[in-house]
Amino acid sequence: MKTCKDISELLSDSMDRPLTWRERWTVRGHLLMCRHCSRFENHLHFLHKASEHYFPNKVSTQNSEYKPR
Ligand SMILES: [Zn+2]
Repeated sequence: MKTCKDISELLSDSMDRPLTWRERWTVRGHLLMCRHCSRFENHLHFLHKASEHYFPNKVSTQNSEYKPR
């Protein structure tokens, strides 16, 4: 049985690399039962989206396309 700590680590990993089907399965199963972790997942997705929105060109920093609105 995975702990919330394991799950939150997997969720963070999933932002950087694709999870294996086994890991996804583990996470899904846990999220069904654990409100804390599903909230954490939403939060991560939000942060991930937000960072893509605000820093679309993280790699090329000299690009002047960044337009704050
Ligand atoms: Zn949990």
